[in-house]
Amino acid sequence: MNRYQTIPKHLRYTITDFNRQFPDDAACLEHLKEQRFPGGIAHCEKCNQDRKHYRINGRPVYSCDHCGTQISPMAGTIFEHSSTSLRLWYYAMYLMASTRCGISAKQIQRETGVTYKTAWRMFRQIRSLLSESEMQLEGSAVEIDETYVGGKRKNRHGSRGMRGRDNDEKTPVFGMVERGGKGRVLAYVTPDAKAATLFPIIEEKILPNSIVYSDEYSTYDKLATPANGYDHRRIKHAQKIYVMGDVHTQTIEGFWSLVKNGIKGVYHNVGRHYLQTYLNEYSFRYNRRFDTQPMFLSFLQQVEKRDAVVRQTESVPEPF
Ligand SMILES: [Zn+2]
Repeated sequence: MNRYQTIPKHLRYTITDFNRQFPDDAACLEHLKEQRFPGGIAHCEKCNQDRKHYRINGRPVYSCDHCGTQISPMAGTIFEHSSTSLRLWYYAMYLMASTRCGISAKQIQRETGVTYKTAWRMFRQIRSLLSESEMQLEGSAVEIDETYVGGKRKNRHGSRGMRGRDNDEKTPVFGMVERGGKGRVLAYVTPDAKAATLFPIIEEKILPNSIVYSDEYSTYDKLATPANGYDHRRIKHAQKIYVMGDVHTQTIEGFWSLVKNGIKGVYHNVGRHYLQTYLNEYSFRYNRRFDTQPMFLSFLQQVEKRDAVVRQTESVPEPF
């Protein structure tokens, strides 16, 4: 992977672009309204039909042109009940979309002056929009691999005194990436790397009769049985063979490096409890690296997800 690849011109979205498109809260609200209620047309509860809605001066709501009932484009989104300005939310999303490795709450705290707690919660909320749990892998070939992320020490069963210490042990993560095509990845925090844990995920996400590339880890033995219909091809890492023709797992390993370097460089460490949301963030960007629109616009399209709102009472970990 080339770290220094330049972004094609039509995919660039600079801070100048951001300031021009979103100069203030009103511009962000208007954008949100257009995305959720194009042309201001929305269902009015009272009229019980679709009506045109108009902005009410000085308030973040729109009003039915027939009966005056008000609707808020922020209702049901991560912005609802937030005392942070809408433009700051947009800016945080812009920052998150503009890097490959992520951005820490500390960084946005320094840049914008919001408290660390606020910054951390904003990022947590934004990450909650980026889950792709419904996604199905396509294509005829998929690489799979397991790895361990975070923690200060390797996950050793029965290690004394470390049980339940969220940040001290490495967390098992399982990943699958499409070979060719869109080259999309799915990555999951799992309780362990046993066959009983990984196979339901494999069978749910990888099409029957696909070619599946893995290393020689014994968990994957079962993939060879015809019941799955998979054409299983393995590379023998233990014998220091990493590529044999097209038999390798270097695509998924490249993704692991991106995640691990990112977490180490930007976040320093991520607790097990939150790791899935960081995986979602890395996967989301990775899965859109060939998109024909700027990443920031892909982020904005997620704000309609209504089920993503995270409780604001959640405790915030100490900054590093
Ligand atoms: Zn109405």
